Amino acid sequence: MDSQPQGPASTSDEVRQRRRCFLCAYSDVACDLASIEGRLARVSVGAGRDGALWVLLTGDDGSEAAITLPGHARRLMRELAALPPAQLNSLRVRVYHLLRSHEDDGQPSRRQRLRTTPVSAVILEPDTLLNITDINNAEYCVRQYPLRRMAPSPPTAATLRGTIIHSAFKEPPGAGDRASAA
Ligand SMILES: [Zn+2]
Repeated sequence: MDSQPQGPASTSDEVRQRRRCFLCAYSDVACDLASIEGRLARVSVGAGRDGALWVLLTGDDGSEAAITLPGHARRLMRELAALPPAQLNSLRVRVYHLLRSHEDDGQPSRRQRLRTTPVSAVILEPDTLLNITDINNAEYCVRQYPLRRMAPSPPTAATLRGTIIHSAFKEPPGAGDRASAA
């Protein structure tokens, strides 16, 4: 498609033809699999910056995929690895731009082995819709977003006062008088 951004790695027509996902344009290698999604069965975060980093996903059909993840997912995976298993298993993950791993490790064939590249993307809860206003507010104060979602606080004297003042001055002074006089 002409409208797609061409990454710096568009080296040959052959590579371009094999491109399968929106991230291929940014990678030296075309992926074998555009994306995969499943529940998190296991997360493994090796020690150090270069320690092995992989997840085991269970697809909706019960198939398993062991995926070696890119380094930029390390922080996210470290946080996920700390969750209790039941909570971990309830989370869905989608990974974009994958390569088949050909190492034979004697795993049962129902478990496919995949690897990623540095441009591959790892999305947690891909179908969760976010409120744009909340995100804009989060730019102003990052703590506000989770707080508003998790703990809708009861009104305090200060917020009540704010609400009253806000509604009192919602219309310019005199606007109500003019409306009732008309
Ligand atoms: Zn791709």
